[in-house]
Amino acid sequence: MENINEYLGGRITNTRLLTPQQISQLLHCGAKLYPATFSREGHLYCRRCFSTIDLDDFRKIQPYCRKCINFGKLLVNDQILITDGSLNFPADQIMTWQGQLTDQQSRVCHEVLKSYQNNQDHLIWAVTGAGKTEIIFPLIKQIIDNGQRVAICSPRIDVCIELFPRLQQAFAQTTIGLFHGKNEQQYFPCQIMIATVHQLVRFEKAFDVLIVDEVDSFPLAGDEMLHRAIIKAKKVSGTILYLSATPPMELLKQVKQNQLHLSKLYRRFHGHPLPEPKCHLLLRPSNFLQINPRIKWLIQRAVKASERLMIFFPRIPDMLIFERSLKRLLPQVSILSVSSKDDQRIEKVQRFRNKEAQIILTTTILERGVTFPKIEVLVIDADAPEFSKTALIQIAGRAGRDKGHPDDEVHLYYQFYTEKISAVCREIKSVNQQAGLK
Ligand SMILES: [Zn+2]
Repeated sequence: MENINEYLGGRITNTRLLTPQQISQLLHCGAKLYPATFSREGHLYCRRCFSTIDLDDFRKIQPYCRKCINFGKLLVNDQILITDGSLNFPADQIMTWQGQLTDQQSRVCHEVLKSYQNNQDHLIWAVTGAGKTEIIFPLIKQIIDNGQRVAICSPRIDVCIELFPRLQQAFAQTTIGLFHGKNEQQYFPCQIMIATVHQLVRFEKAFDVLIVDEVDSFPLAGDEMLHRAIIKAKKVSGTILYLSATPPMELLKQVKQNQLHLSKLYRRFHGHPLPEPKCHLLLRPSNFLQINPRIKWLIQRAVKASERLMIFFPRIPDMLIFERSLKRLLPQVSILSVSSKDDQRIEKVQRFRNKEAQIILTTTILERGVTFPKIEVLVIDADAPEFSKTALIQIAGRAGRDKGHPDDEVHLYYQFYTEKISAVCREIKSVNQQAGLK
């Protein structure tokens, strides 16, 4: 007998990667074979990711699907094997989470459970730091009690990595897997799967419930293949729960058309308002005299007060130049920088979490999903086009997340007060007002 576990549970596998024995065993377990492509209305489609394949692009080489190449090359005349989505899990598992939800969280949790029972998709629109993860625990408990399977997905690896230990703690008796492109972990048919949305491309009709966190964030926003992957990975009878602090227009449209139920959560879990950004108009560029004296003054003040800092930049080169200047200015302070191009990003964020550094410089890569207690947030060149309104709201939301330090400051530095900056400040203020906190 060969081990076939890693192919079970609605998993899609190229048969070239399987031995004949494995194939026959999997077919015996209910798997089905399909050609790698299918034609519809004159177009050729990839059976794995449902993207179109243009044969004219391949004159000299064997055609394959370019869109899902990251999961191994799928040639148009390959065959794929898709296993059955139904799996058996042990009964009577206990939820080990013993926390308490606030009244607001309980209300939303109740609404979400109702949607799940009625087989309806749902959106939680919750401010940053509202405690979205805790709200979904009772839902996950219900899913496990029903012997079902759930995938919790985010477009961001960092978000998945942060979620994993929290879920392990909350559901210590349940099989939980963490899968993303930077993780060597071999897939296994776990009851709770935490993964980047990309990983869903490898599944079909696999999950009873899909929880999609940060649905508005890059690269999910605007990527049709990933949106198709979400729909494809859930069972026909399955439901989707979206979580977002800044939901995209498409979802709000679905809410208007009554296709999606909505719960709003305007309050942070600790009941304090969102920190409203302090705006600083700079007369000179941020790199004037290497570090603009107004920015320098604030950083020095924070370091003296033993504050920890997250400093956001629109572009990697600007960040690296700033980092050099800052290290010269503060040689005694431990400073880290991370970006999407940084291979050691995950380790560095962990070091910052372990308080091995006082300042972390970053791009929008850390705009969401990460929580550091007691942290001051600075945004350099907040008027740069790289910072969307959503990104700035998320960045501001890194501050004041800890119950003991709800008053962390957020500072925006810019040379031009743009409509975007004004909208960010207005929106945060309005959320606080709607929560009855101002
Ligand atoms: Zn494909």
